[in-house]
Amino acid sequence: MLADMYTDLELMRSLTYQLLKEIKDLEQGGGGRGEIHMRSAAAALHAGRACMRILDQGVQIHGGMGFMWESEINRLYRTGKILEIGAGTNEVRKLIIAGELLK
Ligand SMILES: Cc1cc2nc3c(=O)[nH]c(=O)nc-3n(C[C@H](O)[C@H](O)[C@H](O)COP(=O)(O)OP(=O)(O)OC[C@H]3O[C@@H](n4cnc5c(N)ncnc54)[C@H](O)[C@@H]3O)c2cc1C
Repeated sequence: MLADMYTDLELMRSLTYQLLKEIKDLEQGGGGRGEIHMRSAAAALHAGRACMRILDQGVQIHGGMGFMWESEINRLYRTGKILEIGAGTNEVRKLIIAGELLK
């Protein structure tokens, strides 16, 4: 599980840092459309999912304690879900990606 978590984390880092490099010089208001919009949505979609997979395995490793709301890993698992909902849900991110791919 630790190996899977590490691999997910490294993939998420690579995609996120690559995207940050690409948007670094974007002028204000230059995002939100076209290729960069699709790539941002893809990075956010992947990062949210990867975080949830990592947190799910974190809970699993902690066994019963991971299920108890008082534990830190449980708090992280519950709050991590916002990464798939906040600032555009996974479904909305997929609509953006598919919409751009189908142009
Ligand atoms: C803790 C927290 C903090 C937040 N902070 C902010 C903030 O700072 N700024 C801000 O602007 N917003 C914020 N939000 C709002 C957040 O961005 C919205 O909750 C999120 O975009 C989903 O919108 P909704 O809750 O209206 O769900 P809905 O739009 O009602 O969606 C419900 C479900 O239906 C799915 N869905 C909706 N439309 C489609 C479609 N066309 N196709 C397929 N599936 C669809 C969604 O993916 C979701 O799973 C916050 C939310 C939370 C919980």
